[in-house]
Amino acid sequence: MIAILRKSASDEAVKHLVSWIEGKGLQAHVSHGENEIVIGLVGETEKIDPFLLESMDIVERVQRVSEPFKKANRKFHPEDTVVDCGHGIKIGGGHFQVIAGPCSVEGKNLIDIARRVKAAGATMLRGGAFKPRTSPYAYQGMGASGLDCLREAADELDMPIVTEIMDPRDVQLFLDKRIDVMQIGARNAQNFPLLKEVGKTDVPVLLKRGMSGTVDELLMAAEYIMSEGNDNVILCERGIRTFETRTRNTFDLNAVPVLHYLSHLPVVADPSHATGYRRYVEPMALAACAAGADGLEIEVHDCPERAWSDGAQSLTPEQFEQTMDRIRAIRAVIVSDHE
Ligand code: PEP
Ligand code: MN
Repeated sequence: MIAILRKSASDEAVKHLVSWIEGKGLQAHVSHGENEIVIGLVGETEKIDPFLLESMDIVERVQRVSEPFKKANRKFHPEDTVVDCGHGIKIGGGHFQVIAGPCSVEGKNLIDIARRVKAAGATMLRGGAFKPRTSPYAYQGMGASGLDCLREAADELDMPIVTEIMDPRDVQLFLDKRIDVMQIGARNAQNFPLLKEVGKTDVPVLLKRGMSGTVDELLMAAEYIMSEGNDNVILCERGIRTFETRTRNTFDLNAVPVLHYLSHLPVVADPSHATGYRRYVEPMALAACAAGADGLEIEVHDCPERAWSDGAQSLTPEQFEQTMDRIRAIRAVIVSDHE
């Protein structure tokens, strides 16, 4: 971290600042330039609040030299992380996977949807048993029995399950039900107690970007999980809230190469929540593949108009089959391009 001071700063004020920095256990290297005085802070700079430093009268500007995320940072871990999701399915580092299934687990139709998405080429089954809904009166999910439905369908088809966890008190339940991948949704992207609790397990976590979360905030959320010991984190771009109203969210596909540049963790893209409308899911799924996503999460329902949640953005199994064909075509081009 570097603090640039005003040229007018008195020797006494600089001395005072240096001892404040040293008091935090850091070293302060002062250099006097022609137009400004620069202090280089060396040590555990995360202990310093850059805004507090910048609020000091003699400080003009503060700049970070290194990112505050360490474990998620590609600088300290140059090779891609490959996350083992169970059932022989790996993601990241050249392993590409498609996660598909309904928004909500609804019971009996799950196995039929699961069979159809698997036949079309999906390798992981999704479905929410605990649903984060804007309205408390909207369908809240089947709860624990929904996890059983998922386990049953996924065992029959030998596929890993991806399902959302909303409450840190449910971690043991998710472990007992042998959930392969715990999803942390956009609304919980900064639920720090939840992030820490899933971090104490070794179960892979699909971590979605918050609705108004920056790339750095997503990486810091990953850091919360990893700082507790769980390195099996998969990042997910699912669209962010902007001024645009023609789509449910704005799909920030920049985030895919940006996350790959900054981090070694696998990056999945979710064109369903990002667009909110069935008609836009396929083109944006293809765009995400072209942008280098390590996987996709796509909502599929046997009868979208009867879906208990997110019917508008759910593909029919037939549409999903066609989308998978095109995904394979795009992948064939970009994979051979990289070789
Ligand atoms: C979901 O996957 O159904 C979901 C609620 O996603 P998000 O958290 O991205 O809105
Ligand atoms: Mn959904």
